[in-house]
Amino acid sequence: MTLLWRDPWLKPLSDFEVNSDSCGYCKQKFGQVEFVTSCDFCDLGVMHDRCANEHIIKHHKAQLEAKMNRHRDKPLHDYQ
Ligand SMILES: [Zn+2]
Ligand SMILES: [Zn+2]
Repeated sequence: MTLLWRDPWLKPLSDFEVNSDSCGYCKQKFGQVEFVTSCDFCDLGVMHDRCANEHIIKHHKAQLEAKMNRHRDKPLHDYQ
């Protein structure tokens, strides 16, 4: 099983305990290679990338918008 971490707000895989072999959202077992991420707003655990998108939009819309607004307020390239 290979899990490919894909988190738009960068949470390194080494910082996160992958203690599950199934998706926290749809409960399906991970296959050979999966794109996964975790929820920034709760501790649902590792989820398929597509499931995380769905979960966050359904359950954390307000928080997501607040976060996007915070990002938008920053000047471009302030991390460089
Ligand atoms: Zn899933
Ligand atoms: Zn969540």
